[in-house]
Amino acid sequence: MQTLQTKLLILGGGPGGYVAAIRAGQLGIQTTLVEGQALGGTCLNIGCIPSKALIHAAGEFARAQAQASGSSPLGIQVQKPTLDVAQTIAWKDGIVQRLTGGVAALLKRQKVQVVQGWGHIVDGKTVEVRDAQGQATHRIQCEHLLLANGSLPVELPVLPFDGERVISSTQALSPKQLPKKLVVVGGGYIGLELGITYRKLGVEVAVVEAAPRILPAYDAELTRPVQARLQELGITLYLGHQVLGPAQSKGKTVGVEIRPAGAEHEKDKPQVLKADQILVAAGRRPHTEGYGLDGLQLSMKGRAVQVDDQCRTSMKNVWAIGDLTGEPMLAHRAMAQGEMVAEIIAGKTRHFQPAQIPAVCFTDPEVVSVGLSPDEAKAAGHEVLTAQFPFAANGRAMTLEDTSGFVRVVARKDTHRILGWQAVGGHVAELAAAFAQSIEMGAHLEDVAHTIHAHPSLGEAVQEAALRALGQALHV
Ligand code: FAD
Ligand code: NAD
Repeated sequence: MQTLQTKLLILGGGPGGYVAAIRAGQLGIQTTLVEGQALGGTCLNIGCIPSKALIHAAGEFARAQAQASGSSPLGIQVQKPTLDVAQTIAWKDGIVQRLTGGVAALLKRQKVQVVQGWGHIVDGKTVEVRDAQGQATHRIQCEHLLLANGSLPVELPVLPFDGERVISSTQALSPKQLPKKLVVVGGGYIGLELGITYRKLGVEVAVVEAAPRILPAYDAELTRPVQARLQELGITLYLGHQVLGPAQSKGKTVGVEIRPAGAEHEKDKPQVLKADQILVAAGRRPHTEGYGLDGLQLSMKGRAVQVDDQCRTSMKNVWAIGDLTGEPMLAHRAMAQGEMVAEIIAGKTRHFQPAQIPAVCFTDPEVVSVGLSPDEAKAAGHEVLTAQFPFAANGRAMTLEDTSGFVRVVARKDTHRILGWQAVGGHVAELAAAFAQSIEMGAHLEDVAHTIHAHPSLGEAVQEAALRALGQALHV
């Protein structure tokens, strides 16, 4: 067994851990990163990147199919398209490999020592690394321990994962072949991003969601165009339904019993949905077990490790970032926290107090929320001005054949300071940067309304929403 000494030891090479390591290396901090699986973590290997690759591929296939059916208003005609799933997955895997290879190169450039293996916490300053057989390979002593262990999919006790018929997003992102029918449990981020993807690839999809509407984390008005699109795509929705457990099934078919939620339905006969696979996407939980974390007896916040606004845990020089610290479980939050912790360890004064953390759901159409929604702003005690600008009145949206959504701004009525932005529509994920910057910079409606926006662009809808809030809209 090798013994190592380091100043900063990072457990987990996901977006939180690897970004912390890069910045620490840049700042001259001797850094060691321990990763049990692949560099890049959930995000690069089995999360953000592979899901967005498949969403794109499915969108292209669906477009080609629409053109082949002769329904293209653009006059494009193609022969009946076919799909080579193995090639699609190979393309997706190629992107993942390029990115994870890039992370390895960046870490090397910053002289970060990467130790492959599973880190087991001995105490707040010592970690033992074990290989896949459980053999100890390294004992690492550190001054600072940064926990970036990420999260795992929530398993439903009534419907445990078996990796083949009851699957998580990890298997859904690497299918060997597509099922004919898929039941998705959970109409949140993963359930809808992947449910829509599978539907566009030709799979029959049903979504079971416990809440009375899809994407309950976003406001109802914002998710309405997504719900309309699900119907257009032929995805069956069972809203306000709970999953009771597996149903008896024959051969390769798998069944699930569902019933409307609520005591008044407890005597109702359960409905059985049959499928070839069930994707359970009912949330993720911080990864806190199986590597000795409990031995540190850190203060917890629910299932997450509790941290202060510098990502310090309740133990001196033990830090935690990313999904391990709970919601919102987003890659860009993990990265921002990781970068900050490295800078604090290097002696800088930093606090994690962002004015906003953008949330983007890559459904069809896409949904973005940055800062406060109208209801959240009112609940925070603000008198608000809100205004929407529809993409139906935006030239660029028309040329992109997607006019289904809108941009909405929320501002203080007294000062016109912008509190929030929301948008739903094709390609609106790319508007998140402008939204986030305006809020971080404390912009007022006039700042956005009087900025010249390029024509024709979706950004003009952002300007028009601000103009409309001021009663000065030009194009509606
Ligand atoms: P992780 O990325 O989970 O990385 C943790 C790493 O730690 C893992 O590699 C793990 O192997 C390693 N590890 C854990 N314990 C140990 C140990 N004891 N020893 C060694 N290594 C260990 N977020 C977005 O912002 N945008 C998206 O579009 C998006 N899409 C997603 C799609 C899917 C299907 C999923 C599942 C997630 C998605 N997310 C998205 C969420 C995003 O992936 C996470 O928020 C992000 O990866 C969290 O980063 P992290 O560094 O905290 O943890
Ligand atoms: P989620 O919290 O977004 O959605 C889970 C959904 O499942 C909820 O709507 C919930 O009401 C429902 N649900 C829970 N238990 C259920 C049950 N027994 N029966 C029916 N419905 C049930 O979680 P997710 O979709 O699993 O994604 C996990 C996390 O990963 C997200 O919260 C997000 O942080 C991250 N993520 C982000 C993106 C993105 O940024 N675009 C994409 C994918 C994942």
